[in-house]
Amino acid sequence: MTDTRSQHSAFTQFPVQNDCLEIGGIPLSRLAQRVGRTPFYAYDRKKITERIQLLRQSLPDDIHIHYAMKANPMPAVVQHLASLVDGIDVASAGEMRIALDTTMPAEHISFAGPGKTEHELSSAIAAGIVLNIESERELALITRLGDQLGIRPNLAIRINPDFELKSSGMKMGGGPKQFGIDAELVPALLTKIGRLDLNFIGFHIFSGSQNLKAEAIQETQKKTLQLGLKLAENAPTPVRMLNIGGGFGIPYFPGEKALDIQAIGQNLNDLLPSFKQRLPETRIVIELGRYIIAEAGIYVCRIIERKQSRGKTFLITDGGLHHHLAATGNFGQVIRKNYPVMIGSKALCTPRETVSVVGPLCTPLDLLAEQMEMAQAAENDLVVVLQSGAYGLTASPTAFLGHPEPMEVLV
Ligand SMILES: *Cc1c(COP(=O)(O)O)cnc(C)c1O
Repeated sequence: MTDTRSQHSAFTQFPVQNDCLEIGGIPLSRLAQRVGRTPFYAYDRKKITERIQLLRQSLPDDIHIHYAMKANPMPAVVQHLASLVDGIDVASAGEMRIALDTTMPAEHISFAGPGKTEHELSSAIAAGIVLNIESERELALITRLGDQLGIRPNLAIRINPDFELKSSGMKMGGGPKQFGIDAELVPALLTKIGRLDLNFIGFHIFSGSQNLKAEAIQETQKKTLQLGLKLAENAPTPVRMLNIGGGFGIPYFPGEKALDIQAIGQNLNDLLPSFKQRLPETRIVIELGRYIIAEAGIYVCRIIERKQSRGKTFLITDGGLHHHLAATGNFGQVIRKNYPVMIGSKALCTPRETVSVVGPLCTPLDLLAEQMEMAQAAENDLVVVLQSGAYGLTASPTAFLGHPEPMEVLV
């Protein structure tokens, strides 16, 4: 059995007043009245700001921080982050439009992702953002499109490195991958780029996601900087940017510990001087999605019914898999584990009970908490899923079963 009580308290990074969780300084029950209906996602503006401050304090001053907006593309969130970070990384033309609507200058927006369409590439060139090309096809396309548009495209090469980020929730580099261009093919490609009318910016090397092991990230950063130095030898013009990826994880489950961000900062402090000596003009970028936004967000749904079945209690809510796929364990997890779930309107309340929290969908996969300890709750009480700011709404199949879409608020 897992110790669900300590899990609950360890994750309650939001204050509790009169036994009610507060987000953005507003009691949850009041916020639910303001939103007008459940379910909804709420993101805490101050928590987002504090997270960027923590990164700035922990990482060397000359590291540029980018927000990878696929983690949470809510326009208000992206706009808030635009004033705090040094760049925004987008993965589609749709995300690019949201990023361009913010105050972030186009030259600090970059676009990565396999299989970019001609339409996406041509809008990106016209916007003046940086294109992280992932294949020879994309290189040929942007050369032709740049010519047709009369605009010199800004490009970086996304590299598929010859190493991987160990202990990652998701590996996105090393071995055969659909992402990036295999590192060994890059020198020849750089020679080719030198002959074309393109504005070469640098390299993008992203290896993986959701990593809680500082040593694994340190090792990958070291190898990434070394690879960047090696590739730079063949670059047609000085390398202005090296995006070394991110992969910083956050704790979701009992026993998981927050990433030691100080250790990562220290390691970069040790690595940067020799790098800077060889490539003084290169701006080093770290791109983060989940680490920036996940802990600032909650998902809130309402108990519609308390139901007993053969000795077990089910809290049936109006929210679930269709809004928050990841919390049900169906977004890339190998073994289903409970996200931190609590009764938001009875945060610390006793008595407590062990229940399963489910959604309204006709599938057993619609499970937000399985046999988890929480305050004894009644119909109409609010259930909160913590650690829900990243890969929530937009990573969920909202059309499945035709329920209304949840609301989102930034408070
Ligand atoms: C998804 C993705 C990210 C963000 O990953 P997180 O784990 O959310 O930080 C960053 N860069 C690229 C290229 C990605 O595809």
